Amino acid sequence: MQQVCENTALMRTPSSLTPSELKKFRAELLNWFATYQRDLPWRRDSDPYRIWVSEIMLQQTRVAAVIPYFEKFCARFPDVRALAEAEEAEVLRMWSGLGYYSRARNLQAAAQQIVREHGGTFPATEDDIRALRGIGKYTTNAILSIAFGKKHAVVEGNVARVVARLEAIRGDLREGPRWELLQRTADRLLSPEAPGNWNQAMMELGATICTPRSPQCLLCPVANFCRARKLGLQELIPEKRKKRATVGVLLAAAVLVDERSRCILLAPPKNGAGKASAEDIPTLVSKMWHFPTTAVSDDPANDLRRYLKNVVGTTALPSQFVPLRKIRHAVTYRAISLLPFRVEFKKLPRVADARIILLKDFSSVPVSNLTRKVARAALDTPDRA
Ligand code: SF4
Repeated sequence: MQQVCENTALMRTPSSLTPSELKKFRAELLNWFATYQRDLPWRRDSDPYRIWVSEIMLQQTRVAAVIPYFEKFCARFPDVRALAEAEEAEVLRMWSGLGYYSRARNLQAAAQQIVREHGGTFPATEDDIRALRGIGKYTTNAILSIAFGKKHAVVEGNVARVVARLEAIRGDLREGPRWELLQRTADRLLSPEAPGNWNQAMMELGATICTPRSPQCLLCPVANFCRARKLGLQELIPEKRKKRATVGVLLAAAVLVDERSRCILLAPPKNGAGKASAEDIPTLVSKMWHFPTTAVSDDPANDLRRYLKNVVGTTALPSQFVPLRKIRHAVTYRAISLLPFRVEFKKLPRVADARIILLKDFSSVPVSNLTRKVARAALDTPDRA
């Protein structure tokens, strides 16, 4: 019986608003957006390239963190062709610190696809955009509506939450049929006159007023149209999702350094061990330049020493491994504890494909945040470097 009710609920008419309510609702939200929208650099024009870059950067990343990266990235790669023709290492360097580096790799692969298949002009149809590497339905709809004014409603985390509350849709929003209902509802709510602004207004409402916790209903421009608020359910929608259990990972890394504060970074690993295990080093260093790093157990210094023998070959390792402050870092479901050690050499050993760079200047190579934290720990150690 419960299953029947649930299915019936999911088949309901998208949006409970009458046509005249819908008209008012759209006007209220668009007016609010026109007055209160944040001034964000990707909102200053409707260049599909810039909108695309911003949408990819904003996946899993906060707006405030994205802004400086977006500005630097677009200054260095101002259009599709510049991005397509750049060295991958340079693209990763400009992305360095933003995390989820497959986004940068996919971005460049898609730029090359645009040059190859569309002569460098950003495509304007749903099929062509969707066919680009790393672009799903949400990003396609965002580009189509914001850059090309086409009537495609976006549904991402913020919009899903707003729509679910407006219509008091309960249950796990990410479940297939419920997500489809949210999309159908968003399609009905979409303003046909201003689809780009509409989508941005819905996302803005979710990001600033209708926030995951403690939505500010008193400030909400569309509170009169909200079923969750009428029913007192705004704090209960959406329901919390079950999170994947966190897995602890213990690593040790070696900062091999000489008297001039130059250190060794290993080359980006090509491949992980197939489906990444929790301790897969290539995944944990985002397949970028990194300090020699290995998973360890109860005797980290000795485990690291054993691993380093394979790295430095016949060069003798110093007897002293100086422990630095412990680093904590999270990569998806992994809670990493990393124990860095400073290992000092008069002359740095030769290591195949490695680079020797100044510990305090990583600007010439792309590195992950984990590697940056290790470098900071080495620099923070008193009387060193
Ligand atoms: S009234 Fe409250 S719950 Fe409803 S849309 Fe506005 S902020 Fe969200």
